[in-house]
Amino acid sequence: MIQPDRIVSTTCPYCGVGCNLQMHVRNETIYRVTTPFDAVVNRGTLCVKGRYGYDYVYNKQRVTTPLIRKKLQKPGKRTQAFDLDEWRQVSWDEALDYTTQRLVEIYQRDGSDALAVYCCAKATNEDNYLLQKMFRALFQTNNIDHCTRLCHAGSVVALQMAVGSSAMSNTAAEVIHNDVFILTGANASENHPIIALQMKKAIQKYGAKLIVVDPRRIELVNYATLWLPEKPGTDVPVFSAMAHVILKEKLFNPEFIDTRTENFQDFAASMEKFTPEFAEIVSGVDRNLIVAAARMYASAKNGAIYWALGIPQHVHGTDNALALINLALLTGHIGRLGTGLNPLRGQNNVQGASDSGAMPWHYPGYQRVDDEAAAIKFEKGWNQPSGSLNRQLGLTTTEIVSHIAPDGVRAIHIMGENPMMSEPDLNHTRHQFEQLEFLVGQDLFINESHAFADVFLPAATFAEKDGTFTNTDRRVQRVRQVIPPRGESRADWEIICDLAQRIEARLEVPTARWDYAHPSEILEEMGTLVTEYAGVKYKRIEQVGLQTPVYDDNHPGTPFLFAEKFPRGRGKFHPLEYHACAESIDQEYPFILTTGRVLEHWHGGSLTRHSWLDDLYPEALVEINPVDAEALGVKSGDTVNVRSRRGSIHLRCKVTEKTTPGVVFIPFHFHEAPANILTIEAIDPLAKIPEYKSCAVAVTRASEKDLKNPEAQQARGRY
Ligand code: SF4
Repeated sequence: MIQPDRIVSTTCPYCGVGCNLQMHVRNETIYRVTTPFDAVVNRGTLCVKGRYGYDYVYNKQRVTTPLIRKKLQKPGKRTQAFDLDEWRQVSWDEALDYTTQRLVEIYQRDGSDALAVYCCAKATNEDNYLLQKMFRALFQTNNIDHCTRLCHAGSVVALQMAVGSSAMSNTAAEVIHNDVFILTGANASENHPIIALQMKKAIQKYGAKLIVVDPRRIELVNYATLWLPEKPGTDVPVFSAMAHVILKEKLFNPEFIDTRTENFQDFAASMEKFTPEFAEIVSGVDRNLIVAAARMYASAKNGAIYWALGIPQHVHGTDNALALINLALLTGHIGRLGTGLNPLRGQNNVQGASDSGAMPWHYPGYQRVDDEAAAIKFEKGWNQPSGSLNRQLGLTTTEIVSHIAPDGVRAIHIMGENPMMSEPDLNHTRHQFEQLEFLVGQDLFINESHAFADVFLPAATFAEKDGTFTNTDRRVQRVRQVIPPRGESRADWEIICDLAQRIEARLEVPTARWDYAHPSEILEEMGTLVTEYAGVKYKRIEQVGLQTPVYDDNHPGTPFLFAEKFPRGRGKFHPLEYHACAESIDQEYPFILTTGRVLEHWHGGSLTRHSWLDDLYPEALVEINPVDAEALGVKSGDTVNVRSRRGSIHLRCKVTEKTTPGVVFIPFHFHEAPANILTIEAIDPLAKIPEYKSCAVAVTRASEKDLKNPEAQQARGRY
């Protein structure tokens, strides 16, 4: 066996579980990943991504020198450039001076609203804190967002409305203390594999009962006591019908309702109409299953609810999450060990990027930008003149795209994200990106969005820098530099500090702090402004992370939330109405499309598709139920065309009972057949999250040669 020169402990860069990785290094090359049995989060287990998916660090397509486009890009005529011949390699000084000059020019000509920035759920807390600080303090814009808008925005808004805190209320491993738990809109085995293992242990070793509510027959259905196969987007009627049964049969918790909640009467009145019979008609779920699920959850000693993107990614995503919160408040299954509300966060640091203020309505720590006291606090903390920070709410990710116009957004800085894969209705997104005046890409690879950029700033990977990630159960954990950055790539926080100092000098404005010697100093600064991070210091998380809130240097962290009270005081019930999805099926588009992830890949695929993981799952497949496949005359491996009102893609099909009849599923990782060419731009009015989980499509048999996908090729622009 090869003996390592060193083994460095760090945190997985993929999903929000936040597993510990021990990276083995020989001759400055990572060659192996292990994890110890006493690792607090993952107890000696890793999924395929964490164990083997680090090789993108060495991928030949990675860009490791700063680049500027050779041909000046003009609004309306902007093109994509994946080929390095269309760029010239430049020094860091030239790249950063050019970026400074163009951003400042546009800001001084068109003002704060002309600029926008995508922060990044894959980057560290420190990277995100600094990027939002730079745009807020130097350009006075709140047009700052990241992919949290596209995943859990509905959950965040609903939890803030109902309890005043938007994170998971429990530690993931607490699932072994549940005797009943609901899993809905979450394919945990593929998206949070280590949490899925803990769920299986809770069922098999500790006798917990699982209720799955999901349109897909996910793997965990095999372990469930009940499976409620609802139609996509019918969560409000299903969960409200459960509340209806709990109210009618007096299975609720009157003491909890009296002492910890408000607005019960209005809520109870609104549940009258949600009979199991009504829910059955709307959702397709047998009324007896709804009654059985209600009784099982309400009579549990410790009940908990876990959900992922199937809940918030709807035009009524906030209502869907409120329906779950209502159930927890009704039964008192919250505020104790093993009881609570748990939105499983997707990316490795989507919780931390949100905590760090990478959002348009909030400073770090969810302090509203339109709250005068919060604005004054951040002006003082960042040494900015009184009244200088913008008090207006900024644009969300999807709004940034729709506001690209001659009198709207003119320049965007994208750190690590890829809206040209992740936004809905990609043909529209492409048209909008073509209208930009200036685009900065900061990343590892030239992705579909950065291919539109004027300047590319090469960033270091997670294995080449220090920092922290905050995982799905609020645990702030160390990310450690394992190897030196490849080529001239630099840590994101260093790039931002260098750029901010240049912008500040050009604008001749008061100096904020940008001279950090190490990211630990950045986190300490954030802790002075965010109460929940006040006690999170690098020296305290060397061995094991701390779960926020951590109020001071002696605070031990908070494994589960709301023991005494909710941050807003009382938990608030919300009356609900049923609203259909934005687009219904009809004769021309008779299938519901739902999108999501597969085990081997992650999001837009920018990391996993540059890893050998791509060999395990190399192409997009549309999953079709056997009943529909027979009617369409197709079998697994055949090519089909999937078409919506917005676009069309060709891909092979996989015939499987994982999807229910009338529903097809496409993973969104593949630029060759991007699912988001088909999805609809309709958004939840409160959370502004698009409806990725339901739109109407047609599926027809096609031929192998159609796999070239002209529309997808046009979207990517290089075929
Ligand atoms: Fe990484 Fe998530 Fe897999 Fe753990 S479960 S190894 S954090 S991808």
